[in-house]
Amino acid sequence: MPKRITEGDLALLAFAREVQGRAYVPYSNFRVGAAVYAGGEIFQGVNVENAAYGSTICAERAAAMAAITAGYTDIEAIAVCGDSESPCVPCGACRQFLAEFDPTMRVIMGGKTDAVDVMRLDELLPEAFVRGYLDEDTGEDEE
Ligand SMILES: [Zn+2]
Repeated sequence: MPKRITEGDLALLAFAREVQGRAYVPYSNFRVGAAVYAGGEIFQGVNVENAAYGSTICAERAAAMAAITAGYTDIEAIAVCGDSESPCVPCGACRQFLAEFDPTMRVIMGGKTDAVDVMRLDELLPEAFVRGYLDEDTGEDEE
């Protein structure tokens, strides 16, 4: 369910849009910028494609990795801005990647127009596989 859009959402989206032009996209020409808000700081990322297509990295994961590299794993929000007419949603791999850090994080999505969508990550990816599953007692003895 879309959420009310705040000034903070639009500010984070502006950081995503700011770096979108730096995307490395010789194959798709689909530029995506992302901005993560964590620890009171902003971390940006762009999509980086590769001739071995599977080695491509999305903007959302690039931005999250910048935050984590700086020592911030408590990601409160991420904004993503793509070359699409409608607000660009994170791909499935990015939804799973981000759920590791906070399944309830705010996801702000924009595109080429002024249209903006805001959702919680657990609305985009219900029932994510998270750390808790690995911590469950398997019933086997551990030494
Ligand atoms: Zn992705």
